[in-house]
Amino acid sequence: MVQENYHPTIAFSYHPSNSIGLDQSESPYPPSPKVIQTICHAASKINRYPQVQSSDLQKELAIYTAKKQSQIVVGNGSDDLIELILKVFVDRSEQVLLPIPTFPGYWYAAKNLHREVVFVNRIGNFELDVTGIIQKITTRVKVIFIANPNNPTANLIPRRQIVELVSQVNCLIVIDECYYELCQETVADLVDVYPNLIVLRSFSKGFALAGLRVGYAIAPTELASCLKNRTQFFGVNALAQVAAIAALSDLEYYCTQIKLVQYARNLLANELLELGFDVYPSATNFLLVGTSKLDITSTYVANNLKTKNIYVKDCTELPGLDNFYFRVSIGNDDENQLLLSNLANLMPKNLQSV
Ligand SMILES: *Cc1c(COP(=O)(O)O)cnc(C)c1O
Repeated sequence: MVQENYHPTIAFSYHPSNSIGLDQSESPYPPSPKVIQTICHAASKINRYPQVQSSDLQKELAIYTAKKQSQIVVGNGSDDLIELILKVFVDRSEQVLLPIPTFPGYWYAAKNLHREVVFVNRIGNFELDVTGIIQKITTRVKVIFIANPNNPTANLIPRRQIVELVSQVNCLIVIDECYYELCQETVADLVDVYPNLIVLRSFSKGFALAGLRVGYAIAPTELASCLKNRTQFFGVNALAQVAAIAALSDLEYYCTQIKLVQYARNLLANELLELGFDVYPSATNFLLVGTSKLDITSTYVANNLKTKNIYVKDCTELPGLDNFYFRVSIGNDDENQLLLSNLANLMPKNLQSV
């Protein structure tokens, strides 16, 4: 079921700054010390304009991704690139296809730009319904956005399904790999094989730079140059450009950090299972948690946690999900412990047995 009146701004409700914010799939850890030093140093030169098209960062990303520089487009967060793809490749009156449940940012951008959205439900445990998608494609559908791993369901779809889809359709397929550093799964190599494939990446999640806004696309050269021709001249700020380069030069730091997040994620998943929740397999820095077995709604859980100043993302009203799912980011150890003790306390049966 799709709630046509759903407004994506619901999905962007934000926690206050003094709270435990586990609702935005952010990194619980600060960026690398090298990144912080680089930003401080660059701040004294902020009277100057940034480099046009982030060309130094493009160069470093070409090395990091093993692609050509002509295949890399840098944006002000991947949100910026989602909008740019819609502006460049989808006319008004043409359509965007979204397998749901998924990241509301695609819908938000499409609605704002007056591009029509077509939903196709995921099937089983949120797997991609390739046949269902192909059946929905008409000449009006210009682009399909697929987050892999998906947000908020946290699962990966197999590479062969992406190949199946991208090889059978004429429209653009955008694979959003903003959690790439957490799962190491990619189809970036296939950008050289399929002229209709674009991969999106971000510095917000694995590189812990959500506040700085840097993302990039890996696209066939021809598509990449169409996108580059339409970016803002100074679209990515100078601090973001140098910070992203510094992050790429400190992969060891991030590798350690990501291992900590993965370890904490597996612990948290087990503890939530023990409390009686459903927990879905995750290739990301968050968990999708189901509440139906406990006979409580996710709104009940989220509202109760909010009174303790803990914020999780209630997925009620997200197209493709019902009233029994919330998404929770992996916090630091203290945050995860607080989350668990508060969840244990809010169980109806615990309240009764006191
Ligand atoms: C977090 C997230 C984004 C946002 O990335 P930015 O680079 O911060 O704009 C994009 N796609 C998905 C699937 C996400 O979960």
